[in-house]
Amino acid sequence: MKKYLSVIAAGALVVACNTEKPIEIENEDMKMEAHSEDNFDWSVDKFADIEVLRYQIPGWDQLKSKQRIYTYYLVEAGLAGRDIIWDQNYRHNLEIRHALEKILDMYTGDETLEQWMAFEDYAKRVFFSNGIHHHYSKMKHAPGFERTYFDELLMAAGIEMSDEALEAIFNPEMDKKKVVKSQGVDLVLASAGNMYDSKMTQAEAEAYYSSIIDKEDARPISYGLNSKLVYSENGVEEAVYKVGGLYGKSLEKVVFNLQQAAKYAENEQQATALGLLVEYYQTGDLKKWDEYNIAWVQTKEGDVDYINGFVEVYEDPLGKGGSYETVVEITDFDASARMKVVADNVQWFEDNSTIMDEHKKKEVKGVSYKVVTVAGEAGDASPSTPIGVNLPNANWIRQEYGSKSVSLGNIEHAYESAKGSGFLKEFAFSDSEIERAKKYGTTGSKMHTALHEVVGHASGLINDGVGQPSETMKNYASTLEEARADLVALYFIMDAKMQEIGLMENDEAGKAEYDNYIRNGMMTQLYRILPGAEIEEDHMRNRQLVASWAYEQGLPDNVVERKTIEGKTYFVINDYSKLRALFGELLKEIQRIKSEGDFEAGKALVEGYGVQVDEELHKEVLARTSKLNIAPYRGFVNPVLVPVMENDEVIDVKVEYVDSFLGQMKMYGEKYGHLD
Ligand code: ZN
Repeated sequence: MKKYLSVIAAGALVVACNTEKPIEIENEDMKMEAHSEDNFDWSVDKFADIEVLRYQIPGWDQLKSKQRIYTYYLVEAGLAGRDIIWDQNYRHNLEIRHALEKILDMYTGDETLEQWMAFEDYAKRVFFSNGIHHHYSKMKHAPGFERTYFDELLMAAGIEMSDEALEAIFNPEMDKKKVVKSQGVDLVLASAGNMYDSKMTQAEAEAYYSSIIDKEDARPISYGLNSKLVYSENGVEEAVYKVGGLYGKSLEKVVFNLQQAAKYAENEQQATALGLLVEYYQTGDLKKWDEYNIAWVQTKEGDVDYINGFVEVYEDPLGKGGSYETVVEITDFDASARMKVVADNVQWFEDNSTIMDEHKKKEVKGVSYKVVTVAGEAGDASPSTPIGVNLPNANWIRQEYGSKSVSLGNIEHAYESAKGSGFLKEFAFSDSEIERAKKYGTTGSKMHTALHEVVGHASGLINDGVGQPSETMKNYASTLEEARADLVALYFIMDAKMQEIGLMENDEAGKAEYDNYIRNGMMTQLYRILPGAEIEEDHMRNRQLVASWAYEQGLPDNVVERKTIEGKTYFVINDYSKLRALFGELLKEIQRIKSEGDFEAGKALVEGYGVQVDEELHKEVLARTSKLNIAPYRGFVNPVLVPVMENDEVIDVKVEYVDSFLGQMKMYGEKYGHLD
């Protein structure tokens, strides 16, 4: 499964809490500028409701040339399958894209004409969503130009399009939503996605699956993951994605590049896993896919890792078909070093926590979690990208062999950096608070993440005979678990231990994180929800719970003060150590609730502090943020990995950054357009 930045989210840090929510945001960030001193231009393009950014690959030069070549072929393998996601998303997508590409290529007219600009805007929206349906809302993009104008463009470029594809562009009623998941309709017929024949009904698809699924199997294959359901003489059958089968032309190139990559693998295990992946693409055998996943999840050595395959099933209304995607990652060397120091001291943190002794683990093991640097993405993971991924998806493999959880550090960093300091300036109370955020905010936020993930989620013991939180705490389980992990982080980030083990030089980063947490939990995160709505997302609930509980408890001592200046609200921390003590107190209580399975107390906390929205304050926040002009959705162009050749051999790879979204999209079309 994967995690996305929130809908209206601009920046946001980290994730990987193993929840099933597609949207997660761990730490609000308002730190910016801390990293833009290198003058890297983060923003590449802006159109409709989208901003396109770029990201850097720090650590690239720390790799050996062999590792860089390995990375290069893995990225090439991903891009070789790019066309697949277009066809999976909708049956006319490739035909439409080819027309758009050719028009963009041939057009020599006035580029300031209103109709042309509308055309270009449409093309960008389509490129961004790998098809004519919006990547998030799943609704079809409406063209802002006339059909007659488009006919002229087609004619001038010498293109003939099918009537059906033309209708798909211009008839708003036809195939209007890619994935429909509402009740009371035929989900397969109503969804425009291409994982089923366009005439197929939900009943036919379900009947097919129930005829092939073996319910007794404790280690089931992922039925339907790599195929489209089609009609044949014998009724419904699967057209399997494989070399020689559906999408064969792309998959041949994917396989070629994976085989090249295997030659440069960092170790035997990586090479073995790649070999299994190749066999899977060659045969379409889902048992091979499981074998591959087992080999992949057990491969922990090496600085380069990747995701490649038909992986997530969100685009299939029945949750079976996997969307093609690739993410290639290299170790974030700095973050890994930080995580290791935290992990090495995890027992100390447990022993010195505020939770009751009987709820402490005698032997605590840090959660395995990695921050990585993305080197390239393709398919469903690009241009819109997840910020964290936890795989494999098969439950039995997770239980028997574990999973890998990664957070995409440089992607998050790019989000943060591109956001600018407008947000901070608007909501921080004083210049000193802004200065501290700029100087120490990023460090504070990274430390929070490390403590939250490595110590927070690993901490605490459930009493004997009390069930798992998912049973005892029910729908409040994730909110309370996230609150608990946040509180562990908040409590220890201000501990002298952090300086003792060399992670921080003073307590400024801790204070910056406190400022940020209170500001966000009390107020600014409300900009993500619509007027009149309650807070639903678990992380948002947890943050308001923690902040507003501490605010209320601290009122007698004025620990956190609410100030209003010229109609603008601010929350100002007057006493950091008292606030820390309050966080410690709430940590103890939430641990008690979890350890004892005290549902009523857990419910009271979440409902009492985490759900309801202060309507007046919400209105104010929306009014103040609307002026900051933050695009609701953001995504990325990829850096280009350029091989350095000697004779016919790749001897090294260098990174180049592009500055045109359309340029990259056109280049991808030319270089990796393997399907008709
Ligand atoms: Zn978490």
